[in-house]
Amino acid sequence: MQAQLRQLPSVDKLLQNDQLAPLTEIHGRVLVVDAIRTVLDLARQRIMAGQSMQPAAALVEAILARLSVTVRPSLQPVINATGVIIHTNLGRALLSQRAQQAMLQVASTYSNLEYDLEAGARGSRYTHAADLLCRLTGAEAAVVVNNNAGAVILALSALAKDKEVIISRSQLVEIGGGFRIPEIMAQSGAHLVEVGTTNRTYRQDFEQVIDLQRTGLLLSVHYSNYQIIGFTTQPTLAELAELAQSYHLPFMEDLGSGTLLDTVPFGLAHEPTIQESLAAGVDLVTASGDKLLGGPQAGLILGRAALIEQIKKHPLIRALRVDKITLAALQATLLAYLEGKATIEIPVWRMIAADLATLTRRAQNWRRALRSLSQFANLPLQVVDSVSTVGGGSLPGQTLPTKALTVTVPSVDALAAQLRQADPPVIARIDNGQLLLDPRTVLPEQDKALVAALEYALTTAK
Ligand SMILES: *Cc1c(COP(=O)(O)O)cnc(C)c1O
Repeated sequence: MQAQLRQLPSVDKLLQNDQLAPLTEIHGRVLVVDAIRTVLDLARQRIMAGQSMQPAAALVEAILARLSVTVRPSLQPVINATGVIIHTNLGRALLSQRAQQAMLQVASTYSNLEYDLEAGARGSRYTHAADLLCRLTGAEAAVVVNNNAGAVILALSALAKDKEVIISRSQLVEIGGGFRIPEIMAQSGAHLVEVGTTNRTYRQDFEQVIDLQRTGLLLSVHYSNYQIIGFTTQPTLAELAELAQSYHLPFMEDLGSGTLLDTVPFGLAHEPTIQESLAAGVDLVTASGDKLLGGPQAGLILGRAALIEQIKKHPLIRALRVDKITLAALQATLLAYLEGKATIEIPVWRMIAADLATLTRRAQNWRRALRSLSQFANLPLQVVDSVSTVGGGSLPGQTLPTKALTVTVPSVDALAAQLRQADPPVIARIDNGQLLLDPRTVLPEQDKALVAALEYALTTAK
């Protein structure tokens, strides 16, 4: 054992190895030495556990592997073949070309982020996307923060701290990722007053608990990720808006997804738009930037100018401050809507609008490309009817017809795991024991990589 330990190469010796020496130039000496030390440590432990010494080549391989893991960004691109368009775990909305360019530009130069070019004096970052948002939605004013959860906390803190916020019992929801309305309310210092029942709430349920001393706000939260069906009643937005107004109380709606486009022409149910809520008399609407809007992560607050002013003065806004790169992407995304090009430019809408013939052709092309490889000539590959979903807390239960490629193998879990090991990783969907790959969420330029990943996974999966 002692003899074997002595035979282990030294750090200095390994640093001179033909394969490792050039890497100190590329990644710096510190990282290479670190990888060498770790691998030598493991080798020593192995010898002391009675195993025989690895050949030098194996040590070098192990060092190279360690180093490549260290220098690879942990945040890496993946191919989304799940057919879930706004997939929160996979980064939600992809940005348009125009938004990507805008981000790159503002990232690489100084900008007038908080500088008024006309006055030559300090300006406000909150002016940048506000005009576009107002023009698109009819809002009097708007402000953008880091995300919608932040927008809700901020608005409640600014408008209803130590006051009562009245909400229907059916809307005390958890959105996912720990966003629970009662907890958010508690964080902001507002007191929750729930009215009605799980399935039925009426206007008068709200009115009965309004107290001019204590009530701060009426709140409505959109049913983002669930449905209540059957024997149900909810007051309309217009009814609640009218009620709030008659008591001079603000009425706020957390819309969640907050689309600007109507989803109905795409064969989907109606997802309420920001414009509709404002037109119905909602005083303040909050929405996400990276759900159906198809932009960057952001929280949009739109509505009455006086309320927006109050929100902008609250100290929390500094903690939820939106980044310049986000603002650049958001402006570019909003401009596409103003120009009527959203369904052409914005990936979320392009995916929603993708036609079945094109999806079918792509799934068939994947199949053909795999079949053309002799080892897969007899593999059971099928293009089948399936469904895609919009995801991201919008349109629960709604689906879009699609065509998916299925691969029949003894273990779909092993194949799915191997697909995740591909470079780039491919995330598939497993449905009824079948592995499905949906072209709707795979970018056309990723088609080749998807076929290569399948080839890799099918040859390595056990
Ligand atoms: C998604 C969602 C949120 C959270 O928005 P983020 O932008 O993810 O912070 C809050 N409320 C509703 C109703 C939602 O759908």
